[in-house]
Amino acid sequence: MRPFSYTRAETLGDAMAALAADPTARVLAGGTNLIDLMKYDVERPAAIVDINRLPLKEIEELPDGTLRIGALVSNATLAYHPAVTERYPLLASAILAGASPQLRNAATTGGNLLQRTRCYYFYDPSTPCNKREPGSGCGAIGGVNRIHAILGASEHCIATHPSDMCVALAALAAVVEVEGPEGRRDIPFADFHRLPGDHPERDNTMRHGEIIIAIRLEGNHFAAHHSYLKLRDRLSYAFALVSVAAALDVKDGMIVDMRVALGGVAHKPWRDSLAEAEFAGQPATEETFAALADRLLAGAEGEGDNDFKIPMARKAIVRALKKAAAGTPQVQSDKQIR
Ligand SMILES: Cc1cc2nc3c(=O)[nH]c(=O)nc-3n(C[C@H](O)[C@H](O)[C@H](O)COP(=O)(O)OP(=O)(O)OC[C@H]3O[C@@H](n4cnc5c(N)ncnc54)[C@H](O)[C@@H]3O)c2cc1C
Ligand code: SF4
Repeated sequence: MRPFSYTRAETLGDAMAALAADPTARVLAGGTNLIDLMKYDVERPAAIVDINRLPLKEIEELPDGTLRIGALVSNATLAYHPAVTERYPLLASAILAGASPQLRNAATTGGNLLQRTRCYYFYDPSTPCNKREPGSGCGAIGGVNRIHAILGASEHCIATHPSDMCVALAALAAVVEVEGPEGRRDIPFADFHRLPGDHPERDNTMRHGEIIIAIRLEGNHFAAHHSYLKLRDRLSYAFALVSVAAALDVKDGMIVDMRVALGGVAHKPWRDSLAEAEFAGQPATEETFAALADRLLAGAEGEGDNDFKIPMARKAIVRALKKAAAGTPQVQSDKQIR
């Protein structure tokens, strides 16, 4: 047992002051990842700052059409909110593809963004892991790496980001609002999570002491043509081996606009907006989707056990885009999954 202090923050100022006072301090939201990591002795904070009393549980529809989601909105509340099911059904589908109903009731929007990798070595302090202990090496390179990255990895880390929700948020170009000692700032979703590079211990571009306040989503034209396809070892309660968030704006069979983000393949949700722009104006056909899949996976490399992910991702991209183009209804309820 490692001792730690517990502070229940009543205001944002209290929370920021408590975080600033200790470089190891961690925010506690739903606790579904942080507490597990503390039990595994992976996270060793000397101070826990509980933010659950802060007023960050609102979902607001702003006058300009933006949806603003408070950081403490639960994954379940968000997935079933009428504004999300009607205007951002891709997001609802992605959330409902993740975890279990009990976990989604507890897990929060902010915590989902900051959940850590599911790399087996990261969870096992008896093995080397540059993310857990910088400079110690990477057990997964040359080890068991079936769930690991095929895109954007480095010689120091081949971990993937495990979230489903974040794949949809990447496709929908969300903006993350954070507040810290230097004030409030917006981080575009594409810049929020990092590739591992030389510093795999850093998952994202937040600074110590900052707190996620909200996520913003602009209006979009993708509600009629979207698909979240998650491929995993079990139909529920399993992380993605490969997932695809696909969204299309189609007119007379031609692509007006498109978004494709991949999960389970990289240290961050993988999206290439230049490739998406190049394919706009082309027919919404299997041939176009296959060409886009080749383009998105051009730099993919396996590490041995995970080589299968490359052809799997290619097929998943094509299938998700075909479903999106056809306007295939999505699974919207956990009951339908069973
Ligand atoms: C068995 C199991 C299966 C799962 N399956 C899936 C799955 O299939 N798909 C999927 O996407 N997820 C899955 N998850 C992960 C789950 O979605 C995350 O654990 C959850 O979203 C984290 O949210 P939380 O509020 O509980 O975060 P916490 O555990 O409270 O926090 C996680 C991290 O975020 C930080 N943090 C939290 N909120 C803030 C904030 N507002 N500002 C700054 N820092 C903050 C904490 O300090 C901590 O570092 C699974 C989890 C479990 C345990
Ligand atoms: S892949 Fe990353 S998280 Fe996994 S052992 Fe290597 S350094 Fe650690």
